[in-house]
Amino acid sequence: MLLPKKHEVRKPTKTLSGVTPIAVMVYPRKCPHGACTYCPSLNVPQSYTPKSPPVIRAEILKYNPEKQVKSRLKAFKLMNHPTDKIELIIMGGTFLSYPLKYQKNFVKKCYDALNGQDSRNLEQAKRLNEKAKHRCVALCIETRPDFASEKHIKNCLEFGATRVELGVQAIDDEIYKKVNRGHTVKDVIEATKRLKNAGFKVGYHMMPGLPGSSMKKDLAMFKEIFSNLDFKPDQLKIYPCQVIKGSKLEKDFKKNKFHPYTQEKILKLLIEIFKIIPEYCRVMRIMRELPPEFIIAGTTRISLRKDLDEFLRKNKSSIKEIRFREIGFALQRRKKINPKYKIKILRYNALGGKEFFIQAVNKENILFGLLRLRIPEKTFIPELKNCALIRELHVYGQALALGKRGKGIGQHRGIGKELMEVAEEIIEKEDREKIAVISGVGARNYYRKLGYKLSGNYMIKKLKKK
Ligand code: SF4
Repeated sequence: MLLPKKHEVRKPTKTLSGVTPIAVMVYPRKCPHGACTYCPSLNVPQSYTPKSPPVIRAEILKYNPEKQVKSRLKAFKLMNHPTDKIELIIMGGTFLSYPLKYQKNFVKKCYDALNGQDSRNLEQAKRLNEKAKHRCVALCIETRPDFASEKHIKNCLEFGATRVELGVQAIDDEIYKKVNRGHTVKDVIEATKRLKNAGFKVGYHMMPGLPGSSMKKDLAMFKEIFSNLDFKPDQLKIYPCQVIKGSKLEKDFKKNKFHPYTQEKILKLLIEIFKIIPEYCRVMRIMRELPPEFIIAGTTRISLRKDLDEFLRKNKSSIKEIRFREIGFALQRRKKINPKYKIKILRYNALGGKEFFIQAVNKENILFGLLRLRIPEKTFIPELKNCALIRELHVYGQALALGKRGKGIGQHRGIGKELMEVAEEIIEKEDREKIAVISGVGARNYYRKLGYKLSGNYMIKKLKKK
């Protein structure tokens, strides 16, 4: 790779949402229920292929979490990205099904790498990270809906996690049986509820085109997850079903028992899906980055999202989805953006709680920052008793180093503080005494400056009622 010039940021999209993502892979291990029919089993972490870039990197480093983090930090520095605000993403199989000792040590080692020093235990590693050069402001764990019990969620909190992505794929028990998912729709609902009531941001992985589904059924399922109060995810990853080498589906395809959607069909479906995605939801990704030689059938078009984006913008479709409106991406398309913003509040109900989605947007609905506030009906976490929950505070724009001022747009111009004040005003009208933030350990000091104190795994502030 040619080194970038002095101020050139290589692959700028990587940090356009304001943080630097570092994916770390766990060692290969079978999922507890066996394998879903579409998922390749190839002696590498379940669902990946030996030639997937994160697998190649992890294999060279023998799945050592510390070395993986250090090597990604080095790569981002070489590409001129800031590395002080990190989002850690733990990938590969069902992490929460691994032995607890392995899970704890894995996360501790990730913090050690960010801290640049070894710690005695996980607690100390987290504390050191509060002031480290590379602070973990968000931590994401991927899991299955039947591996998101109260116990699992408490472990996630202990790790300092802030976001959980659930492999949902479809919301249909018949499809689940056909593809050997090994869980039910009821598990999805209960996991979502527990996670939201613990303050987590919840993402769903969805897979249109599975055996037993159809274009009509897929669209109906997407409509359902945003209209039915039992779902309402904050984020989505949409991976259209492909036939991958080493999966059971490969055999079905060869026996002419299954055919994936064509590229045209997928694009058509995605256009309809995007029209119904509400403004509180962000589509993190479309299409998995799989080496084409492992795709037996189905689209290999990795830039499908770009095609979709171009189509929607050309046709002036009214799209509310978050990434479509983010300032970082808007700045990539054009130079002039009205920096004046107003605060917009969307209130909706989900899983027995009240949600307030608070946004800083300009006249054209370009998004500068957002806050997710939840008033839960009840919670199983003792320190959250009588609390309103801030599940996410995010100010968008190209990641800026901590302490650097923004140039009039995007990060570091006080938007985060203003969103927090609006949330506190809303809570004053609700019957809650306290406000709790699920905070990445590296962001705790930000909340301390706003009067919050660490209590258990949350930053909590007692409200003064007027
Ligand atoms: S749960 Fe996920 S990783 Fe495990 S077999 Fe199914 S798709 Fe693959």
